[in-house]
Amino acid sequence: MKAILFHRHGGPEVLEYADFPSPEPGPGEVLIKLEAAALNRMDLWVRNGWPGLKLEYPHIPGADGAGTIAALGEGVTDRAVGDRVVINSNLGCGHCEFCLAGQDNRCQNWHLLGETVRGTYAEYVAVPARQVYPLPDDADPHMAAAAALVFHTAWHSLITRGNLRPGESVLIVGASGGVNTASIQIAKYAGATVYVVGSSPEKLALADLMGADYLIDRSAEPNWAKTVYRMTNKRGVDVVVDNVGTTFPLSFRAARKGGRILTVGNTGGPKFEIDNRFVFAKHLSIIGSTMGTLADFAAVMELVLAGKLKVALDRAFPLKDARAAQERLESGQQLGKITLSIEER
Ligand SMILES: [Zn+2]
Repeated sequence: MKAILFHRHGGPEVLEYADFPSPEPGPGEVLIKLEAAALNRMDLWVRNGWPGLKLEYPHIPGADGAGTIAALGEGVTDRAVGDRVVINSNLGCGHCEFCLAGQDNRCQNWHLLGETVRGTYAEYVAVPARQVYPLPDDADPHMAAAAALVFHTAWHSLITRGNLRPGESVLIVGASGGVNTASIQIAKYAGATVYVVGSSPEKLALADLMGADYLIDRSAEPNWAKTVYRMTNKRGVDVVVDNVGTTFPLSFRAARKGGRILTVGNTGGPKFEIDNRFVFAKHLSIIGSTMGTLADFAAVMELVLAGKLKVALDRAFPLKDARAAQERLESGQQLGKITLSIEER
C-alpha cells in the first residue's frame, strides 16, 4: 500500500510517501480501506518526538480515519466487508478493570492510534472491531474523520466528566483548535451559553459561525478574565474549558465560586504556576481527562452524523502531500480541521 511514514523524529522533511506492506487484521480486528484521514496536533508531537517515546520504525502517523471494511480478522462476526466506518482511535485493551467498567480511556495498557501504533496516513489500517462506528452511505468521510478525535475528546470532557447542564455558562479559552471548536458546538447543543476568548478576529469569526454567544478578542482585551467577570455581572462562568494550561491563572479568575475548570491538554506548555488561593477560596474543581469511552464515541458520532453538531473543515490534501498538510497545521493558519484524501469511492 501507499503510506506516509518516517524513520526518525524531526520536522516535516522526515515524512516520506512510500510503499509499505498492508497490515493484516489480527483476531478480533478489521482491515479498513481508508477514504480520508484527519490531522491532529498530536501528529506533529509524535513526529517531533519526546523523551521516552519509543516507536517501531518506520512509523505511520494519524489517529483519525474513515473508510470501508476490506477484510475481517478471526472471530469478527458483528461487522461485514463493505461496511463504511469511522475509527475511534482510543485503543483500550478490552479486558482490564477499567475497560470492563466502560472506562476504556483509563485503560492500564492504553494506546492511541498513530501515536504508539501505526496510524491512518495510509491506504489501509487494522484496528479492533469494537473501535469502528458505522458510517451511512452518504456520509462525507472527511467530515467523519475530522470529527472523531476532537468531538470524542470534547464530549467526554464537557458532558461525561464536566456534567454540563442546560442554562449553564461556559467560557472556552481559544477559538479555533479542533477540540475548542467541537466544544462550542457541544456546549450549545447541551443548552449552555458560550463565551469564547480568541486571538484574532478571523478565529473569532469561526467561533461565531460555530454558534458562540459572546466573543472576546484577546489582542484587544489581554485581561479577558476581567472582561468575563464584567460580562457576567461579577459572577463568573460555571465552566471554563482551558486546553492551553498557561492561562489557568486567568481561567481561575473567570470561573464563578464552585466553578469547574475542564482540561484535556496544554497547548501553551505543560508546566506553569497556579495560585492555590483561588482553588480553595473559590471552591474550584479542576477536571482533567483525555480522549473518551466507547459509549462517548457512539453518543457523539450519532449527533455528528445526524448533522446536529457541525464540523469545521479547513482544507483537504492528497495523501502524498501530507507534508504540506502538516506544515499548514504547524503554521496555525488553518480554520477548522485539515484532512487527507486517500481514496475517493
Ligand atoms: Zn484496558
